This record gives sequence, structure tokens and C-alpha cells, in this order.
Amino acid sequence: MKNFFQGFATEGAKEMMKDCCSGLGTDQAKEKMKEYCSGFAAENDKDFEVVKIEKIRNGCTACEDSAEAQIKKQVPYAIISCEGACLRGEVSRQAANHICFSKMPDKTARICLGGAFTKDSGQRNLVRNAAKVYVLEGCNTRCASRMMKGVEEGLHPEVIIVDGLYDFDRKLFGINEVTEQQIKDFSQEAANKIVEKIKLDAN
Ligand code: SF4
Repeated sequence: MKNFFQGFATEGAKEMMKDCCSGLGTDQAKEKMKEYCSGFAAENDKDFEVVKIEKIRNGCTACEDSAEAQIKKQVPYAIISCEGACLRGEVSRQAANHICFSKMPDKTARICLGGAFTKDSGQRNLVRNAAKVYVLEGCNTRCASRMMKGVEEGLHPEVIIVDGLYDFDRKLFGINEVTEQQIKDFSQEAANKIVEKIKLDAN
């Protein structure tokens, strides 16, 4: 639960907590809690899905060169975001971009999730070589961290559930349900909090 809320107390996080804990002790509340927390301790075969990823020889030279340069520079933090097509995914993705390209460009490497997940090359090497890996998740389905843990055994990333870090109408789903400016504002708000956390973690 600590990981889930990361100590942030936005209205969004409070709503999630209220939703999660409402009527504590009832079977319904226990089910909710199980739903939010499931996957935290996957241990048995039945807790996993096995996927077969087709290998490919092709690659992107620009991506490989960039990954190699960042590994050489010993950039300490790898920042991964889920690639959700919904509002939550878009905010997470843009927050990751703000962190890596505006706020902490010398200390963070923006990981291409698809590349790192599907191909054992530069992007995955960046994750392996990072002193710390932060995974931003649009929502608690936690796609990015589950994907990466599937291909990189022993990976223990710091998972940040981004939709608890900004205030918005939680009933919204699509990026078309808000303005572009609102998405920018949400992602800036989330990015500022994540940067604070990264700095705190470093102390
Ligand atoms: S974590 Fe949520 S927003 Fe991100 S890809 Fe998964 S379901 Fe979509």
C-alpha cells in the first residue's frame, strides 16, 4: 500500500483510498482491497501469464546509439512509463517526458517500454545498468512494471501510480474528454511530485 500511494495526499489518492477502504471489514471491502493489491505477491504459476515474443533482427540505430551513450554517461535513473492510450496513460507518459527532458535531463534516461520489453538490446541494457528504476503507471493495472519484471528477472523497480498524483474527475477515461492544456497541467503536477520523490530518495 505504501508503494501504491507513495505518501502523496492529493484528492485523487484520497478518493482511491476511500474507495478501497470503504466499509472496512465487509466482504465487499475485502474484495476491493484484494483487487487493488492483487499482483503484489505473485508467487505461483497460476499467478502468471506466459507470453511468447517473436524475436527480430531489425533494430533502430538511433535508439541503440542513444542507449549506449547514456550507459557510458552512467545516467543513474531509468524512467519507464506505461503506454496507456487513455487519459491516465497519456498523463503518465507526458510526466515521464517532463522529468527526463526538462526537469532532470542529466540524471534520467527515458526508456522506450516497447523496445525494452520486446528486445534484449540497448533499452533493456539501460534498465539493467540504472542505479534505480522508476516505473510510472497510468493506473493501478501496473502494465509497465509487470511487463518489465517479466523480461528482467530480479528487477525491483520503484512503482509510482501516477493517477493518484493529480486532481481530476476519476470517471473520465479518454484523452478526448479533457483539453490538451489539462493533460499538460496534470502531467506537470505529477512530474513535480515525482521529481521531489526522486530527490528525496537520493538523500
Ligand atoms: S497501467 Fe493503466 S493506463 Fe497504463 S497501460 Fe496499463 S491499463 Fe493503461
